[in-house]
Amino acid sequence: MLILKFGGTSVGDAGCIRRVAGIIRCHLPRRPVVVLSAMSGVTDALLLGCQAAERGDRTTVYSVMRYLRQRHRSTVEQLGLGDHDARLLKEIEHHLDELEQVYSALCLLEEASARSLDRVAAYGERLSCAVMVALLCSQGIEARVLDAESIVKTDDNFQEAMPLTDLTREATREQICPLLSAGILPIVPGFAGSTTSGLTTTLGRGGSDYTATILGAALDADEVRIYSDTNGVLTADPKVVPEARPVPHLSYAEARELSFFGAKVIHPRTVLPAVDHGFPIRVLNSFEPSFEGTLITTDGERNGEPVKSIAYSRTVSVVTVEGSGRPGGPRVAARALGTLERLSVDALLTNASSPEQNLSFILPADRALVVHRELAAEFAEEMRRGEVRRIDVHNGYGVFACVGEGLGDTSGIGARVFGALGGIGVSVHGFAQAPSGTSFAFVVEGDRLDDSVRVLHREFVHR
Ligand code: ASP
Ligand code: MG
Repeated sequence: MLILKFGGTSVGDAGCIRRVAGIIRCHLPRRPVVVLSAMSGVTDALLLGCQAAERGDRTTVYSVMRYLRQRHRSTVEQLGLGDHDARLLKEIEHHLDELEQVYSALCLLEEASARSLDRVAAYGERLSCAVMVALLCSQGIEARVLDAESIVKTDDNFQEAMPLTDLTREATREQICPLLSAGILPIVPGFAGSTTSGLTTTLGRGGSDYTATILGAALDADEVRIYSDTNGVLTADPKVVPEARPVPHLSYAEARELSFFGAKVIHPRTVLPAVDHGFPIRVLNSFEPSFEGTLITTDGERNGEPVKSIAYSRTVSVVTVEGSGRPGGPRVAARALGTLERLSVDALLTNASSPEQNLSFILPADRALVVHRELAAEFAEEMRRGEVRRIDVHNGYGVFACVGEGLGDTSGIGARVFGALGGIGVSVHGFAQAPSGTSFAFVVEGDRLDDSVRVLHREFVHR
């Protein structure tokens, strides 16, 4: 049993959708379950519509609706499904009418809470799945779209929901196993789920990958294949490093670190279900399906050079809390970390020498202001008493991480990184090593990030 997941660019237009249908057909003997993303750009458009609705800006909402109608209709036209066209167009219209009503409610209320964003964002995957099923049926394959909300049960942390494993396993098996036994191909919209009370949630941007491994765990899959538009996980982002090449084999820990520090190819939580269940994940290219891609397993493989790949996050901010240095002052680290926890913000790394006195967090820039505000409130009293000297935010930094199992016990890595960066005049504003030794992360000025990634790629990967 196999899960096949296709990302947004893999279903981005009629030609891509046909190519994906071909890949699915090749895998039919392995009784696959298919997970799809929305067509590329659709989720962004849906969320843009929410921002507009929050301002009561109906004009923008109309243009989002027009774009969605036109994009999906023209895809159906280009696919030319004959008898299946009319039914598919009706189904697309049904989803879009419902979406229009949701938008209209949001415009009236001028609100776009996390809960509403999820309700809207889930339409993209429903639409792409409807198109794929119609195409497969027109080719004589019996396929059926399932409802993600009734399969993936989650907590109510809208926009970053976590699956409830037991309920999800039960619902998945109940709905998918009978289809598989009857020889029907199940197609599941990625990204979405629902709370136990039935409210739509999403698993975070890029979350369809996570849907694939959640289903893989629930169905005891032999393998999860994630198709995107690169030849697997690469040694660096090819937009920054043109000579980047595919990495044949990664461990779960390496894959997790890479996506955590910003590699876009898989969603950061994707490997979690695989770690518990041990199934391999293969990252492949739907545009070049015969290429072997990257295999992600428990062990990975050490292959000479300690750094396998370099990931980066472009827009990060540094938030600093500085104590007075007097003994007996507030416990800065414990309380600051508690604040992050309350806000559900993950720091990319922390900088500290005596953490109960001074601490900096390196955070995605879009979360820095709210963290700064909350920290200022948390330490307001201590600031007044002079026990905390400053709490500030500095923007315009970038983080990159060198990732490779066993980096931590390879001597001389730090010297090579600092030497290479020093050679191009880049100074390091923060540094952290993962306790597992799988990643070394560095904070640099944002405008030197690309140079830094390139020089380290040359140092470790492409000499
Ligand atoms: N469509 C969603 C997004 O763009 C989920 C995904 O593609 O994985 O974030
Ligand atoms: Mg993706």
